[in-house]
Amino acid sequence: MHGVGGPLQVEDLSETYPILDAFIDAAEEAGYPKNPDYNGPTQEGFGYYQVTQKGGRRYSVSRAFLDPIRGRANLKVETDAFARDVIFEGNKALGINYTVHGFPRAARARKEVILCAGAIQSPQILELSGVGQPELLREHGIDVRHELAGVGENHQDHYISRMAWKVKQPVTLNETTRGLSLLTEGLKLLFQGKGALTMPAGIAHGFVKTRPELETPDVQYHCAHASFADPHKRILHDFPGMSLGPCQLRPESRGTVHILSDDHRDRPAIKPNFLKEELDRETHVAGLKIARDILERPALDAYRDVEFVPGPDCRTDDELLDHARRVGGTVYHPVGTCKMGNDPMAVVDDRLRVHGIGGLRVVDASVMPRLVSGNTNAPVIMIAEKAADMIKKDAR
Ligand SMILES: Cc1cc2nc3c(=O)[nH]c(=O)nc-3n(C[C@H](O)[C@H](O)[C@H](O)COP(=O)(O)OP(=O)(O)OC[C@H]3O[C@@H](n4cnc5c(N)ncnc54)[C@H](O)[C@@H]3O)c2cc1C
Repeated sequence: MHGVGGPLQVEDLSETYPILDAFIDAAEEAGYPKNPDYNGPTQEGFGYYQVTQKGGRRYSVSRAFLDPIRGRANLKVETDAFARDVIFEGNKALGINYTVHGFPRAARARKEVILCAGAIQSPQILELSGVGQPELLREHGIDVRHELAGVGENHQDHYISRMAWKVKQPVTLNETTRGLSLLTEGLKLLFQGKGALTMPAGIAHGFVKTRPELETPDVQYHCAHASFADPHKRILHDFPGMSLGPCQLRPESRGTVHILSDDHRDRPAIKPNFLKEELDRETHVAGLKIARDILERPALDAYRDVEFVPGPDCRTDDELLDHARRVGGTVYHPVGTCKMGNDPMAVVDDRLRVHGIGGLRVVDASVMPRLVSGNTNAPVIMIAEKAADMIKKDAR
């Protein structure tokens, strides 16, 4: 078990599976070491994911951080509250305008306002508050309070595509999560905090360098003994299958998140520009080739049947890239849209205070200048822990 600070705990998955053990062995046969702890001395290698769970259930930040302190007199949690914009006096933030079921409300801050609406909505709220690119704000009828060209720019995200193989034995989640087996798994979850229903989307991991000259891995794999008939609806095939998806860790492509109107209920436009840069395309294709190499190794002979996504006919780099474009999508790790720094595109300084504005900080994934080389949940919690220390210190 590996603590990452505060009440949050990261646990090793309590169960292993022979088919995923075989996958990790196959990676070793392909020349990639076993690594049971990618948060240890080295990230490179293959093993099982660590998870933020307690008793088999996701241990969300709400459960970990809020539940223990809900009784505090200085804490008020208001649900169904939809932040609209920041209340200002000059360039000092005083509070937040929000709506509850359409009814306007306002909250005043005694000390400062902390925006933590995530990498998609924090830039949206800043823009709706008149902080951002003047031309874009005026286009939507918003008065410019403060020009900050970086708001909503520098969007980065992990892009994953997937390959899938049929499996010779009925040992995959495709079978264990339907019919009577599902009932068994439900009971396992209820009484033991174990089983298929405690599994994350990727169960085994891999971190590899696609080029030997790299200092650290540039591709991460998510492997599961499951395959998806409809990945968006999370519907599994009715035959045994397994899947493996690469994602490039530090993409060069940059996207944007900007408002489409001055109404806070309208979603902003996300333009991720996935695979725009040549390096990203090459790395993704290299990741797909390594995935196939691993799955074809003898250690998996007892399990692996035919590859059916994209299938053996998809061989050239162009074909693999075309496949990646067709089936790929976000790993839901957007960052960077209110990036920290001192350059003209930075939105917050190194204490997460919005440049040029008083009493306003942003504390969420949007402040990362670059995407981290792994999943983003724990890093965001660490940003929040650090921010809490800075806020307390600055208040003294
Ligand atoms: C489907 C999915 C699966 C994921 N799986 C993993 C994983 O396995 N491992 C991992 O490390 N990371 C995972 N992530 C990523 C991880 O959850 C995020 O990186 C992390 O939650 C980002 O934290 P945040 O505080 O920046 O934003 P969020 O966690 O998104 O928090 C922002 C909050 O602000 C609220 N909000 C937004 N706008 C408004 C508004 N106008 N008014 C009021 N409230 C508002 C939102 O409801 C939300 O509660 C996943 C993300 C998704 C979506």
